[in-house]
Amino acid sequence: MPIFVGMSSSNNIIVAIDGYSSTGKSTLAKALAQSLDYGYIDTGAMYRATTLFLLRHNMDFNDMGAIQKALFAIQIQFRPGKDGNRTFLNGEDVEDEIRTMPVSAKVSEVAAVPLVRRAMVAQQQAMAKERGFVMDGRDIGTVVFKDAELKLFLTADPVVRLKRRYDELIKRGIEITEEAVLANLEHRDHIDSTREDSPLRKASDAIELDNTNLTPEQQLEIAYKYAMDRIEQTV
Ligand code: C5P
Repeated sequence: MPIFVGMSSSNNIIVAIDGYSSTGKSTLAKALAQSLDYGYIDTGAMYRATTLFLLRHNMDFNDMGAIQKALFAIQIQFRPGKDGNRTFLNGEDVEDEIRTMPVSAKVSEVAAVPLVRRAMVAQQQAMAKERGFVMDGRDIGTVVFKDAELKLFLTADPVVRLKRRYDELIKRGIEITEEAVLANLEHRDHIDSTREDSPLRKASDAIELDNTNLTPEQQLEIAYKYAMDRIEQTV
């Protein structure tokens, strides 16, 4: 069960940030959580850690009995590191490994399995029992926290998204071509938005934020204003 401690105050809110791959969700979520002094939960990391576990054990993604057993054996935690939270799988720091291509190639297949989603959503809801969290993913505003006070749906031009993800992987020391990155983004977006169980959708009450031409600072400023408005409304 992941553990994350947020601040507790009566007018704290939940901020749900959803969107396609590489639209800058985690960059914004991290910065906004820091500005508000809130907890941050990267739900994609949870699906990635689960995928890593299944891959390491050569498990068949169609074998629901085996997946159920695996879910009982998986413990995911976030612990603070030098550059923000790090993801731990059964006590092991897997932050770097879950960002590699073998995991990225399979994570959307695993995330489409209803058993997996049920387990992850239950953990996410338990983690943010007290308000005062920013959570990013694909189904936060539509499923995990339908009652989030602020829902943002991020979009960005595909060329910009590709460049961001490619630069991020190169920075992490991963050797990869732009073609391979593009293929992975398209593959994940397709599965994520067409799966039967909680497909990626913009919630009807979400605010769409196109950050194609925004710097991270400008994007943060806009989101922070929305958050402060909502916080004031909850007083
Ligand atoms: O956010 P990130 O790109 O790391 O997420 C990896 C994958 O995890 C997504 O492509 C999607 O398949 C899955 N995911 C999901 N629901 C979430 C978060 C991530 O299905 N809330």
